[in-house]
Amino acid sequence: MASIKDTGVTLRRLDFSESSQVMVFFTRAHGKVRAIGKGIKRSTRTRFAVGIDLLEVGDMVLSVRQARQEALATLVEWKAQRALAGLRERLGRLYAAQYAAETTTALLEDWDPHPLLFDGLLTLLDGLCTAEAVLPPTVAYQALLLHQVGAWPEFAVCVACRRTPATEGDLYFSSHEGGLLCRDCEAGHPERRLVDRRGLPLLSGSESPEDAVTTRVPGEGSIVEGVFSLLNYHLAHQMGREPLLACKLVSR
Ligand SMILES: [Zn+2]
Repeated sequence: MASIKDTGVTLRRLDFSESSQVMVFFTRAHGKVRAIGKGIKRSTRTRFAVGIDLLEVGDMVLSVRQARQEALATLVEWKAQRALAGLRERLGRLYAAQYAAETTTALLEDWDPHPLLFDGLLTLLDGLCTAEAVLPPTVAYQALLLHQVGAWPEFAVCVACRRTPATEGDLYFSSHEGGLLCRDCEAGHPERRLVDRRGLPLLSGSESPEDAVTTRVPGEGSIVEGVFSLLNYHLAHQMGREPLLACKLVSR
């Protein structure tokens, strides 16, 4: 058995038995890790406080069988850094944070480190604690997540003919094809949806989309809802299902 130290955030929490929980952590140095906390719910007399909250950030020590990394790690120590209490003050903030946790859990492989994504998730969670409008930072995180797992789509040209689409008329997006489809090419692709063109400048510019969304999205509104829905459509395709929390964040 080997011990590893890391900082992580709880993405999922499952009851395992009367006294134990299985948690999915996103750790900074080791990526997504599943760990069992034995005795975690029992009492404050254990090494753990009173259990670990969802979306709690802390420093941990894990015991790992190196030869079998697919097996559960064992949580040996947990020291909470911050509880992100502001997330629980408003439902919209909590839904946005849970959406980020859900999509991150689904798209990451176990033991595959993504430190930039980890930092981005913490930036998102910290920002959501005081956010008035939750969609712009959530969209920025969607963009970062898709970039980091190598699934960012093509938004500058049509993926079929490689031409810049006309500036007017219907424009489509295919998740399977990985980007935009112009009107001349869309017919041969059954999996596609219409694109709200007003959000395209945020997605196709030279700066990274997460920066563009952070600096240029004008708060809450139909444009940012359109971008959220488009990126959510693509995330759902990667996940093989619709994220459960998506419907809580936009009305359509
Ligand atoms: Zn085309």
